[in-house]
Amino acid sequence: MNFLEKRIVEDGQVLSSSVLKVDSFLNHQVDPELMEKIGKEMAVRFQGTGITKIVTIESSGIAPAVFTGLSLGVPVIFARKQKSVTLQDGLFSAEVYSFTKQQTNTICLSAQFLTSGDRVLIIDDFLAYGEAALGLCEMVQQVGAVIAGIGIVIEKSFQPGRQKLEKKGYRVESIARIQEMKEGSLTFLTNIKE
Ligand code: 5GP
Repeated sequence: MNFLEKRIVEDGQVLSSSVLKVDSFLNHQVDPELMEKIGKEMAVRFQGTGITKIVTIESSGIAPAVFTGLSLGVPVIFARKQKSVTLQDGLFSAEVYSFTKQQTNTICLSAQFLTSGDRVLIIDDFLAYGEAALGLCEMVQQVGAVIAGIGIVIEKSFQPGRQKLEKKGYRVESIARIQEMKEGSLTFLTNIKE
C-alpha cells in the first residue's frame, strides 16, 4: 500500500458501498503533511509535461492543488461553485451534475488567469462519475488552453469517471485507486507505486 492508501485504511470511513468519508484529513480537517506528500507525488507523475497552471474546484480540491502547485512551481486557480460579487466579467462556466448531492451546479472560472498558451493540470480530491473533472476540462478548453492531465487524490475505480475521461483522451493519474468498498472494508487496485 502507498502512503495514501495506508491513511485511507487507518482514518477513512466506508459509509456505504459507494461513499467514502475522509473528513479527518482531506474534506474537513486537512493534514498539511499528507497534502505535501500528495503534491510531491503529483509533481513526480506529471514532471516533464510542461504544465504552466493548475486548475481545481473549491473547496476540497484546493489543498492538494496548492501543494502540487508548490512542487511544480506553478500557480493554482480554483473554480467557484457559485458566482461571487467579485467574479463577474469574463467568466467561463460549465454545468456539473453531482451524483452525491443529486443536483446540477454551474461552476465558473475567471478568464483573467488562463490563456490559450497554458498547459493545465486538473486536480481534484475524488473521482467518481467524472462530472467535476469534465466540467473543469470544458472551461479550460473554452479558453483554448491545453489539458496536460488530470490528477486525482482518491479514485473510486468501480465508478465510471476514469473511463469517461480516458475516452476523451485525457491522461488520469490517481494516487489511491479503490477497487471495491463494502461497509467496513475496502480494496485497492494494485498497480500503484509505493
Ligand atoms: P464526480 O464529479 O467525479 O462524480 O465526483 C467528484 C466530486 O464528488 C468530488 O469533488 C467530491 O467532492 C465528491 N465525491 C464523490 N464521491 C465521493 C466520496 O465517496 N466521498 C467524498 N468525500 N466525496 C465524494
